[in-house]
Amino acid sequence: MLEMNPAVLRSAIFLGVLLFFLVLELRSPYRQPSVSKAKRWLINLGMTAFNSLVLNLVFGGAPLLLAAYVSQHQMGVLPHLPVPYWLKVLLVVMFLDFMLWVWHLLNHKVPFLWRLHQVHHTDLNMDVSTATRFHIGELAISVVIKLALIYILGADVLMVLLFETLVVATAQFHHSSLKVPVWFENLWYVLFVPPSMHRIHHSVKIKERDTNYATIFSLWDRFLGTLVTAVDQDRIKIGVGGRYDEKKLNLHHLLVMPFTRYVR
Ligand SMILES: [Zn+2]
Repeated sequence: MLEMNPAVLRSAIFLGVLLFFLVLELRSPYRQPSVSKAKRWLINLGMTAFNSLVLNLVFGGAPLLLAAYVSQHQMGVLPHLPVPYWLKVLLVVMFLDFMLWVWHLLNHKVPFLWRLHQVHHTDLNMDVSTATRFHIGELAISVVIKLALIYILGADVLMVLLFETLVVATAQFHHSSLKVPVWFENLWYVLFVPPSMHRIHHSVKIKERDTNYATIFSLWDRFLGTLVTAVDQDRIKIGVGGRYDEKKLNLHHLLVMPFTRYVR
């Protein structure tokens, strides 16, 4: 029987969705790039390759291994919930997505975390590659938090894999520069995050940046008062105001950025 390693499946999904949105946004871009797309892709994917290598060396497939272990041993909260399995899957995905919303909010509010998270926001244009541009420090902390949540919940491999797949697919979609029909944006808004909503989050204006933290479900921003939609999309300038010099946004600058001067 053909069995696929979940970690390989995870990488295949990541690359497949990346390629899918790259082709779409090249065919039908929302706006023309203001800086070289090739150079940004080299930096963003270079960073992704570096992060994957180091995180794999440090953590291996820890989240999926832990999920297999805790579910096999009936550990955590989930075995005690008297609800059908499909509902547990839905609850886990929603709960983890809400925790991601809280984590994202903290990344904007806590100065030390913002030092790491700003690397993601310094991309001068947004496209599908922006979804993978993160400082390794932010990713390492988030893996530790994810391990703790899997342990507390007793989430299984399918739940973790489904959540990770949804995060990758929705984040790559809402970071993409794909031109999306207005009717689809409005429909997608009801539950999820369309590109226009996340574009506001990448604005140089701090007031606009500190909104729209959601990844999969837009519900959290809607219910917790951080949803902003009434912004003229055409005048949104992408990036961090204090870090707008393209010559200082190369891979090595991004790696040391958290340890240099503080920029809000
Ligand atoms: Zn952010």
